[in-house]
Amino acid sequence: MRASAVVLTGIAALALSACGPSDTELNGHGASGNVAAPPAPAAVDSQRLLAADNEPGEWMAPGRTYSEQRFSPLKQINDSNVHELGLAWYFDLNTHRGVESSPLVIDGVMYTISAWNVTYAIDARTGKQIWRYDPQVDRARARFLCCDVVNRGISAWKGKIYLTTIDGRLIALDARTGTPVWSTQTFDKTWPYTSTGATRVFDGKVIIGNAGGEYGVRGYVTAYDAESGEQLWRFYTVPGDPAKGFESKAMEMAAKTWTGEWWKQGGGGTAWDAIVYDPELKLIYIGTGNGSPHAQAYRSPGGGDNLFLASIVAVRWDTGEYVWHYQEVPGDSWDFTATMPIILADLQIDGKLRKVLMQAPKNGFFYVLDRVTGELISAEKFTPVNLWATHIDLKTGRPAITREARYGIEPVLLTPSVAGAHNWNPMAYNPMTGLVYFPAQEHWWPFSIDPDYKVPDGPAQRTSTGTGGPMTPKRMELMKLADSREKGWLTAWDPVKQKEVWRVPHERAGNGGVLTTAGNLVFEGTAARTFAAFRADTGEKLWEMPVQTVPMAGPITYMLDGEQYVAVNAGWGGGMAMAELRGGRGMHRSDARVLVFKLGAKGELPPLPDRPPIPLPPPSTASQEVIAKGADLYARTCANCHGPQAVSGGVIKDLRHMTAQTHAMFNDIVLKGTMSGLGMASFANVLSESDAEAIHAYVIARANDEWNR
Ligand code: CA
Repeated sequence: MRASAVVLTGIAALALSACGPSDTELNGHGASGNVAAPPAPAAVDSQRLLAADNEPGEWMAPGRTYSEQRFSPLKQINDSNVHELGLAWYFDLNTHRGVESSPLVIDGVMYTISAWNVTYAIDARTGKQIWRYDPQVDRARARFLCCDVVNRGISAWKGKIYLTTIDGRLIALDARTGTPVWSTQTFDKTWPYTSTGATRVFDGKVIIGNAGGEYGVRGYVTAYDAESGEQLWRFYTVPGDPAKGFESKAMEMAAKTWTGEWWKQGGGGTAWDAIVYDPELKLIYIGTGNGSPHAQAYRSPGGGDNLFLASIVAVRWDTGEYVWHYQEVPGDSWDFTATMPIILADLQIDGKLRKVLMQAPKNGFFYVLDRVTGELISAEKFTPVNLWATHIDLKTGRPAITREARYGIEPVLLTPSVAGAHNWNPMAYNPMTGLVYFPAQEHWWPFSIDPDYKVPDGPAQRTSTGTGGPMTPKRMELMKLADSREKGWLTAWDPVKQKEVWRVPHERAGNGGVLTTAGNLVFEGTAARTFAAFRADTGEKLWEMPVQTVPMAGPITYMLDGEQYVAVNAGWGGGMAMAELRGGRGMHRSDARVLVFKLGAKGELPPLPDRPPIPLPPPSTASQEVIAKGADLYARTCANCHGPQAVSGGVIKDLRHMTAQTHAMFNDIVLKGTMSGLGMASFANVLSESDAEAIHAYVIARANDEWNR
């Protein structure tokens, strides 16, 4: 499995750097020529990162510091003047897809990564592009992305910028020119892996996990040498085939908690976001993902905890050797990943200063762990949790899972849902208020076992998570109920008392990540397509600006020439645009942009383009039987991206709105991959011609439902 890096020199590097913008991604605003780069770009090393508070004007790592608190000591912009904030500049990212990364700002240069892994260096004062790098990813890989063609961030180390691509490359770019220095393939592409996490560099090691838990893969995290790209260590998060021997004692231990032949379907446990370094304890904390497939009955039929699914695992930073683990969701069947952001802090708890890590994962409990030992200190609900678990037993550390939560073929309405009570959106901890801020939500979903699930006969064949089932009247009714109960808000949580201190209700779920500052502020993008600032101590809204799209990513702040800026990548998309029942409805497909604000600025965004009229659908002439078959196939194969019940979340094409020309091409698009360049791969390996026709009939019926309403 040891992969060696391809060092790109000479012709290869020239060829890659010469990859210009594609037709659909020509850069507009901010593209007017190159500007001179500063003398030593991205000169970040351990010394600078460990002393990041001495340079509060910089944002040198995804969460600013190793603790990933996303707290900035800057306070020029504060609770008394934030109402004067305005748009200083913006930079078009030339995509309508989701943007989930936080930019870096190092020595006057902003680095950021957008949809399809297109990466930019931008003058942080003016918004002028310095370079643009398009890794030309295989867009057909989008079929194996549960949640859009996103990426959650890049990192910098000694003159290089590191990114991962959805097709699994880890690439080091020369920070001055955006030219690749080395590139290495981090997974076997015959399995449905993807890679969307932020890269992180810890003392000369680049760490990256992967994604694909919805499609059948085995999770792992790999460390590479930042200079050469050479693989240093790999930590698997779930055991492989015992007949082939275990990679470590930890895997041998984990295998005892699995039953059946889980390895044939990967098992899951993918680490697709939170990986945090503790320079003092020399540990790396890895948040792991859900089981694959979701339904434990199809994954580990005899039950078991299934280590290390939905866990936080501590490993040694230099060897990747297991140290401790805490499993949040034993025997996961609910897609309750523990990959959500992890924050490190030292908190006074019961009169003692404890080294803790904090996480608010999908399952709706806020966890505080002792990060030295992995001991659970406390866990309380931050959203309604109706059935999954009544509480977490502090003695055993285990959730009290209810019998009803272990759903069968009949759908059971649960909250939180697969979308989570809190998802990947960055949270922040402000040591001045002692509060943790994050976007929370109440989101419901009917869970059931798919009675027709078949174990795939090879990798990359799957389109089901083992859950779901026919669209019965009961399921329809539960989905309507789920829709009516959806809520989203900004939470301020006291991690010591384990209780909510304030909340700001939002229009709906799907709100953005947060930044908090010494200016007594919390910044957040909202699902109402605004960017807003709140008082960190009380939650009072102090400023808000409409920005045409949802800034989902974590905002950052930086200082240049004595002036403080706040920046955020704004681009609606990702999992919530696909999972949310209401979020994207009626939402304008708008341009993703980097937005940068400062006091007294008066910049404006260009007006939104006119929405094209919705085309009249062809008449619905298929039989009810064919439409019902199409509904079932749609739910299994298409809904994940195109939205439940053929209602798109405002990012991927709403299939009810196809033109006559697209209708005519329907089968070719689905079976021949005519539009794979846009991310719509062929599904010929799982759908027949009559299947595609049934799906088409269903979509036409849904379009007529809408038109006639
Ligand atoms: Ca998942």
